[in-house]
Formats: sequence, C-alpha cells, structure tokens
Amino acid sequence: MTDDAPHSQIIRDIRNTLCYLKQSGCTGFDCSEASLKILNELGLPSPAAALDRESLSDICTDLGDCTRCGLCESRTHIVFGEGSPNAQVVFVGEGPGFDEDKCGQPFVGAAGQLLTKIIAAMGLAREAVYIGNIVKCRPPNNRNPQPDEIRQCLPFLKRQLAAIHPRVICALGSVAARTLLETETPISRLRGRFYEFMGTPVMPTFHPAYLLRNPERKRDVWEDVQQIMKMLE
Ligand code: URA
Repeated sequence: MTDDAPHSQIIRDIRNTLCYLKQSGCTGFDCSEASLKILNELGLPSPAAALDRESLSDICTDLGDCTRCGLCESRTHIVFGEGSPNAQVVFVGEGPGFDEDKCGQPFVGAAGQLLTKIIAAMGLAREAVYIGNIVKCRPPNNRNPQPDEIRQCLPFLKRQLAAIHPRVICALGSVAARTLLETETPISRLRGRFYEFMGTPVMPTFHPAYLLRNPERKRDVWEDVQQIMKMLE
C-alpha cells in the first residue's frame, strides 16, 4: 500500500493547522474560507494514489473469521463497518451492541437510529458516509472493550480509514475518542474541537446512546457536527 504524493499530505496538514488556529481564535494567519478552500482542492489525493490504495474488501478478507481476541467466542457476527468507500466523513463508535451483533451492521439499534437522524440533519445520506467501530465484535453485556481487544482490532480500522481517506472523522463517545486520540481526557472535555488521527481531522462528540439518556446534550452534538459540516464546505 502506498500513500498519496507527500505534498498532498503536507497540504492537508497545513489546512488542518489553519482550521485549528482559526477555531482557536488565533490571528495573524490567513485562515479565511477562501484560502482553506484552495488548500482543500490542492490537498486532494491524486487519482494514482487512490488506485494504489488497499480496498475495503481486501481488508475484510484479511480480517476473515477473526479469532484474534476473546470477543470472537461470544459474538454472532463480526461488524466490519458499512457505507461509502469514498465517504468524506467516517463515524467511529465503540463496538457492536446486541442488535448489531445479531445482524452484522453497525449502529442499527436505538442509538443507531439516532445517529441516522444526526447524519440526515447534517444533510447527508447514511449511505454516503462510512460507519465503523473501535472493535468489530460485541463485548459481552456491552462492557467497554478491553485494551488487548482494542489492540488487536484497531489496525483494521486504521486500514479502513487509510482506504477511505475521509476528510473528517467523527469519534462517537469516550471509547472512540480516547482510543483515537490516545488520551484519558473525558469526552466532555474533548468534544467541540478538532484533533488529528492519521493526518485526518477528528471531531469527538457524545455517543448517541449517551444522548438517549441525556437528551439535553443534543445541542452540544449539533454544534460539533456543524463544525464538521463547515469543514466539508
Ligand atoms: N454503539 C456503538 O458504539 N457501535 C455500534 O455499532 C452500535 C452501538
């Protein structure tokens, strides 16, 4: 697997840094919409780089009937992830729950229905984005995935992200945000601003399941996803 031309990555890094400076209220740099737009266009990966990239089905084949960690013993289905291989936004959750384990698709239960509404409110079709998880098999009783389970599974998510090459990642909830950002900081403090994972801006926000229990936080999530929409303009 080869990556883009090195300059594409540098241009995206400059763009992401300018976005970061802009939202931090830093002055003295040209963080205007016009210059961000130019950088967006310049930073698009070359068609050759896209052709060289590993495909999602290669990665799925490599994952196979995975037994790399103990979660395989209790799972019904592996939930590989679904959506557009050309998605501009990837949503990353924690791991499959009861409903997802039964059918093999991410975010199909009550939290999934809320995520689908959030995506629609962003003006996007669910099929146009990509949805994955930190771990691909359901942790028993929906407990948090353990570090060794994440360690075995994360390389596959990284490969999926490299294959899709999204413009933004939205980390849903504490496990996703803390894993991608390698931090112990609570999600309530992380959310609301962009970070970076594999050169891609990451917006952490509350998990839809948390929103079902704390609907007063929906406004925060709406603000977070509006920042994503702005970045995609
Ligand atoms: N919660 C998650 O984090 N992921 C899913 O796929 C479903 C529920």
